[in-house]
Amino acid sequence: MSSTEIDLHQQLKKYFGFSQFKGLQEQVITSIVNGHNTFVVMPTGGGKSLCYQLPALIADGTAIVVSPLIALMKNQVDAIRGISSEHGVAHVLNSSLNKSEVKQVKEDIVNGITKLLYVAPESLTKEENVEFLRSVEISFMAVDEAHCISEWGHDFRPEYRNLRQIIKRIGDNIPIIGLTATATPKVQEDILKNLGITDANTFKASFNRPNLYYEIRPKTKNVDADIIRFVKQNEGKSGIIYCLSRKRVEELAQTLQVNGVSAVPYHAGLDAKTRVKHQDMFIMEDVDVVVATIAFGMGIDKPDVRFVIHHDIPKSLESYYQETGRAGRDGGEGHCLAFYSYKDIEKLEKFMSGKPVAEQEIGHALLQEVVGYAETSMSRRKFLLHYFGEEFDEETGEGASMDDNVQNPKKKHEAQEDVELLLKVVKETKQIYKAKELVNTLIGKANALILSHKTDEHVLFGKGKDKDNKYWMALIRQVLVAGMLRKDIETYGVVKLTDKGKEYLKAPVSFMMTEDHIFNSITESEIKI
Ligand code: ADP
Repeated sequence: MSSTEIDLHQQLKKYFGFSQFKGLQEQVITSIVNGHNTFVVMPTGGGKSLCYQLPALIADGTAIVVSPLIALMKNQVDAIRGISSEHGVAHVLNSSLNKSEVKQVKEDIVNGITKLLYVAPESLTKEENVEFLRSVEISFMAVDEAHCISEWGHDFRPEYRNLRQIIKRIGDNIPIIGLTATATPKVQEDILKNLGITDANTFKASFNRPNLYYEIRPKTKNVDADIIRFVKQNEGKSGIIYCLSRKRVEELAQTLQVNGVSAVPYHAGLDAKTRVKHQDMFIMEDVDVVVATIAFGMGIDKPDVRFVIHHDIPKSLESYYQETGRAGRDGGEGHCLAFYSYKDIEKLEKFMSGKPVAEQEIGHALLQEVVGYAETSMSRRKFLLHYFGEEFDEETGEGASMDDNVQNPKKKHEAQEDVELLLKVVKETKQIYKAKELVNTLIGKANALILSHKTDEHVLFGKGKDKDNKYWMALIRQVLVAGMLRKDIETYGVVKLTDKGKEYLKAPVSFMMTEDHIFNSITESEIKI
């Protein structure tokens, strides 16, 4: 089978009733149909499922779809069954099936009826399943939510690490397609390596959501009143408010209700019936606001959510992007407001203590990015997209004006000499330090690591002490985003010079910077000395 022999548009119309492909779908599908390993990075709602469903429906044999969430698998299977006259066209294979159900699934596969077989990674590790799948014709293997393979993804699942071995056992030449909505460059690299598809055709859609407005406000003890005011100003509009704890969800939902806002709570501690009820109330617009933990949102497709508020800052920018991404799906207004206090970062740090060291290091590095995002006074969109490995022009890019920093710009000042000094310090200290040590070196504060490398004896030590630590931290972040420095992921954030940075040292030019916001609640511990 090759795409040249098939009219993909005709198939799209036939199975899904759509007359056009969305974004990169057609290219992705062509790649799969032609038997190539394929890697797809698209934001949520981009239309990833169709990328493997359509090729599966038109291919010979059965496509295996690995997905971590049973609920989502069931939804997809129901949807596929709805578009085909054959009930057995899609099946789920998991441990909840009884013997006769498993027999039916296998029969349908053997008879060539089943085009899509959804499995959880755990089911794939079962010997009998592997043996069976070896014996039948498999068209390709789709690994959905592929970021689960990476410790740097927001939902690491160790079972995903075995997938490559299992796929190999099922068949040597089965094309693999990995799909994810969350991919920093490091996660992407992990996926390609772990799935053994470094040769994959890669399709990456932009993560820019031009209609979303990003705003960060300091979180004070009046945060509830601030939220009530915001919600009242947006009366009648649908919104989600995320809190870290179930208790806070309950309290805030009550506070809102008392203040005349129609709101319901949602968290995993509520019984299933209540959860479904509250979710439906939100979707059917019987209530305006859901106050929720992160348990809310997966698979919820309400296009006209007009605001997402973070009562507590999330633990990574992936989570932030994912959660704010639930606003404005229809392309209309979507206000993303987060309340930030450094104390919340410390709280999140505390949650991590006791975890394995590597996990803590990762968690810490991810949190530092959240701090950088919250405190920066540069274009938030640029910062966020840079984090996802994407360039964004803050003057001309789509949605460039849509954040608080761009709307209320801070004065910029010339920082050419400081950039030179910073880059020199990185170079002279042999590119071994993370941002914290670089700042300390600049302001002349020694710590154990600095002493052990005798950096305190270097001529550059303390050369930037006329400015404070916050100033230097802000500059480092802006120079990172400008691409003259980069954080090395393997070492959890050691700062390295890029070629662009080396060039700058040879031929420095003007660099206009803005200082970070100062949040009152930030404590000295921001830079732990
Ligand atoms: P993702 O998995 O990337 O989050 P989905 O596969 O759930 O996205 O698709 C998001 C929405 O887009 C779904 O409602 C789907 O029916 C719709 N969709 C997908 N492809 C098309 C298309 N070619 N034309 C119109 N709508 C589409």
